[in-house]
Amino acid sequence: MAAKLNIKDKYRLLTRDLDWEFSYQERKQAFPYEDFEGIKITDWSKWEDPFRLTMDAYWKYQAEKEKKLYAIFDAFAQNNGQMNISDPRYLNAIKIFLTGVTPLEYQAFQGYAHVGRQFGGIGARIACQMQSIDELRHVQTQIHAMSHYNKFFDGFQDWSHMHDRVWYLSVPKSFFEDARSAGPFEFLLAISFSFEYVLTNLLFVPFMSGAAHNGDMATVTFGFSAQSDEARHMTLGLEIIKFLLEQHEDNLPIVQMWIDKWFWRGTRLLSIVAMMMDYMLPNKVMSWKEAWEVYFEEAGGALFKDLARYGIRAPKYSEVIEKEKEHISHQAWWIFYNFGHAAGFHTWIPTDEELDWLSEKYPETFDRYYRPRWELAKKMEAEGKCFYSSGLPQLCQVCQVPMGFTEMQSDPGQISYRNAMFEGERYHMCSDGCHDIFVNEPEKFAQAWLPVHQILQGNCGGADLEKVLSEYYRMNVGADNLDMKGSPDERRWNEWKKGAA
Ligand code: FE
Ligand code: ZN
Repeated sequence: MAAKLNIKDKYRLLTRDLDWEFSYQERKQAFPYEDFEGIKITDWSKWEDPFRLTMDAYWKYQAEKEKKLYAIFDAFAQNNGQMNISDPRYLNAIKIFLTGVTPLEYQAFQGYAHVGRQFGGIGARIACQMQSIDELRHVQTQIHAMSHYNKFFDGFQDWSHMHDRVWYLSVPKSFFEDARSAGPFEFLLAISFSFEYVLTNLLFVPFMSGAAHNGDMATVTFGFSAQSDEARHMTLGLEIIKFLLEQHEDNLPIVQMWIDKWFWRGTRLLSIVAMMMDYMLPNKVMSWKEAWEVYFEEAGGALFKDLARYGIRAPKYSEVIEKEKEHISHQAWWIFYNFGHAAGFHTWIPTDEELDWLSEKYPETFDRYYRPRWELAKKMEAEGKCFYSSGLPQLCQVCQVPMGFTEMQSDPGQISYRNAMFEGERYHMCSDGCHDIFVNEPEKFAQAWLPVHQILQGNCGGADLEKVLSEYYRMNVGADNLDMKGSPDERRWNEWKKGAA
């Protein structure tokens, strides 16, 4: 009679023993994507399974979390949780999250399901499959957490459609599509290591503590429920880099190239979070600059010191990134303020108290470069002379952010432009970081679907912006977009608050 298995044996049977030898097909044929990136794997059995979970334990544990989570969502809805947020301006950050980040969780689900098939090692396949299921859960729980707000506020109605089409959402969308259309090892390096292991704290901590500071219990609860998953995902990120570097010395230059690429892409993506922290949270958590110092310079600095024993160095252009922490949030919010008529959320001029907070947090740069713009905007608003930019911005061919970043090394007041030729055409980039990425893979990035080019080519529903916004993007023009001041969101909020008092 079989004795009851202990957890270790059970784990082995449920992971490693799921692999099999191929009797009539070559192993190489079964894993066709494993070689073309140039990565050399000599021994898959050296893979340390980072999760050490059996499927059985995984499902039980996740089910427990789901039960608690949905009980809280229910209580939140029953108690009119939407009335407890600090200020309806806050929810515009959540609109960005739902349209820009939640669909990335779905892309992660698909990406991990794909690579979970493509690795020759069973340990890596199981870890990716589990993460894939986690990511699907994240999509669902985020939609459920935020769906409550859709009943009361504008801009939440068509997030998935918007993700696929709206100009600024091509920034996160193209980031993930770049990773998913790469080989399996680059995907893991990009998403598990660069994003989940090193940069994720800069996305999740600001959003979750931002939610806590601004009375958004639905988002806080989702965040707690995702936290133990995130811990596993980070372990996978660390395992993949160590594994690749220990397998073969030829992997080092490839891994370093990917680190350089994905850190740069990651920091460009995070400029949206930077702007959220500094401008969109009515109750601030910390400045972007402070977050960058804690979560990247300190934590990341220690990590790269540790990885130096493998020959890895800090990501290329780290010195530029360090200077940019003083600038990017201001530059990004200014772009959105100028194109507030074409955004799926509301924009606004910071209040006087907020301007003072920014001066205090950015003593080196805010008063010198950015306060004068807001003072002018305020003056123009008071005189009834507000206007939105009527042109369409030029976009970076790689990160797809409008050209608004500036020269960190010479003059932070000058917009930085780079370009490169490929097959007789000239392509434009926002920085040396994006330039290098393009030049490394011009065939890939020449194909980028740039929203502004597509509008100008007539592929987005029409020649006038109103048509693009309402028909192609499916925004409710006049409700979802424009200034917070005078918006239906603001008007309803004031009526509810009056009613409550
Ligand atoms: Fe996730
Ligand atoms: Zn760029």
